[in-house]
Parts: sequence; C-alpha cells; structure tokens
Amino acid sequence: MSDGRLEVGSLSAGLGEKLFGVVEFPVLGEPYKLPMWLIHGDKDGPTLVVTGGVHGSEYASVAAALELGRSLEPKGLRGRLIVVPVVNMPGFDARSIYVCPLDGKNPNRVFPGDAGGSGSEQMADWVFRNVISQADFYVDMHGGDMIEELVPFTIFFRSGDEQVDARSLEIAKVFGINLLVASVSQGSTISAASKAGIPAILTESGAQGIWTAEQVADHTNGLRRLMLHLKMIDGAEPEPIPYTLLKRFHWLRSEHEGLWYPQVAAGATVQAGQELGCIKDWEGNVLQTALSPGAGTVLFIVSSLAIHRDDPLFAVGA
Ligand SMILES: [Zn+2]
Repeated sequence: MSDGRLEVGSLSAGLGEKLFGVVEFPVLGEPYKLPMWLIHGDKDGPTLVVTGGVHGSEYASVAAALELGRSLEPKGLRGRLIVVPVVNMPGFDARSIYVCPLDGKNPNRVFPGDAGGSGSEQMADWVFRNVISQADFYVDMHGGDMIEELVPFTIFFRSGDEQVDARSLEIAKVFGINLLVASVSQGSTISAASKAGIPAILTESGAQGIWTAEQVADHTNGLRRLMLHLKMIDGAEPEPIPYTLLKRFHWLRSEHEGLWYPQVAAGATVQAGQELGCIKDWEGNVLQTALSPGAGTVLFIVSSLAIHRDDPLFAVGA
C-alpha cells in the first residue's frame, strides 16, 4: 500500500473505490493470472484478506468468495478487503483434486512459498508476499475435495505466539461453524500467516464437487459475522454460537494401492481403534484395516473407491 491506496500488483484502489481485475505475475517464466477484488472502504478499519480455491475444485469456497467480491460495496465499509476467489487457477481450470497441475504439489503444503522453487512454490511466494501479508485478519476458505465427504469445520493454527493464536481462536468462534479444530501442520496458508503475526482461520464447507446454497452460506454468513465483529460493517455483534473445540486433528493415510471401502459417514462419532474402513485388493483380500487414531468426530472421509498409496483416507477431530 502507498499513499493510502490499496494495491496488489498492477491493481490500485483509492479511498472509497472498488475494482475487479486480473493480476499477472511470472510463475516458471509464464504469466500466472489471478482474478481479485480490491474493496477500499471509505472509512478507516482493518484489512481483511479472503481467499478461496487454494484447492481448485472446492467450489463452495469459490462461490462464496465470488458472492462476497460481487456484493460488498466500499460505501460505509470501515477498512479494506482483498478477495481472491481462486488462488489455484491451474487447478480450477483442470478440475484437479488436491494439487496444482504446474508441479503436482498440494499448494496448501508449500506456503509461504519459494521464489526459486517449483510452480506452486513460486505462486505461493507471490501470493503470500503481495496478498496475504497485507492482512490484519485472514480467512482461507476450503471444503471437501471432489472425492471427500465432509462436515463443516474451521481450523485455526497454533503458532506458539499466544496473542496471535488467541485472536485466531476468537475469529474462529465468531465465524460460527460449530466444530473448531486446532492444527500444527506446516505449509498451510494459515500456518504461514499465523507465523507472520496475522490471525488466520481456514474454513471448510461443501464437498464432492457439490456446492449447495447452504454450504456457500456457511462461508458467506461467517464472513458477515466476522466483519460485524471487526466493526467493518454496521450492525450488532453476532450472537455467540455454541462450539466444540477439537484439540487434535488425526489424519490416516493409505499404505496401499487398491480399493477403498469406507464404513462410516462424515460427522460420525467414533471410538479410538474403531474400524472406519478398509482397503482391499481386486479379489477382496483386506490389505489395510483403517482404525480411528482417536475418539472424536469424523471430519472428512474419502469416498473414492480407487485409492493410491499415501492418499488421505479420513481425518478425526478429537
Ligand atoms: Zn482444501
């Protein structure tokens, strides 16, 4: 930002201005095109950065970001918004699962990126330095991918900085999705933001390529509640919503190439050691019995019959 303007790459919005544009920057020597809205309120307030589509086929996140960017006006807004509906544009175009086709890497494992690295790493570096770093608060919206059944939940990162972590938990509660999950896994958008001192949450709703109005509203209602809480828009403080805090985020991965038979649905309450599914070979021999690593709630479970070695199978919040 310079002279009080809100700027990303070649885009620049003055006080009280809103604009949509496509920023271009080099990734692997080719132009990477990133659509976004800059909404510069006509009053002072915090900068909120909102991203969707870090995983390009998690459509509820993309639809919610589009709705926010199209509808929010700068008049009366206290503060600034940068809204990026699809971070992983190559993945969105290719309808890819988990990864960015530029390098086959999961973009949510490479933040804050590397300017001299692979395609995803270069993209993450640019997005982190030019977009996410401008945030006072950051919301990265996700959902279950094309092959994942999921119940809505919100992840916040434990960076070890008590002040930042307390503010991340605060905005996770305000967002209004009732399952909150603490994460310590590195390389995510919110881990990079938190470690840079920016309170951040990662919200999950929608799954399996489906994006119902209700799933999109999980994200858009949460954003509205957050903007009310931060006093960016006019209205009363949102009513508190009861929540469950899950301190552990257990993932189980496939140890085999084979066929996956899930035995519970997302949202199920399970016991430690309970069988949640199994992997079989073509003849029906069991290759792996997938046991729950803890007692808790199944947050997502893969629904694809085809499974690869090292694929996620499910996650349990405990
Ligand atoms: Zn995702």
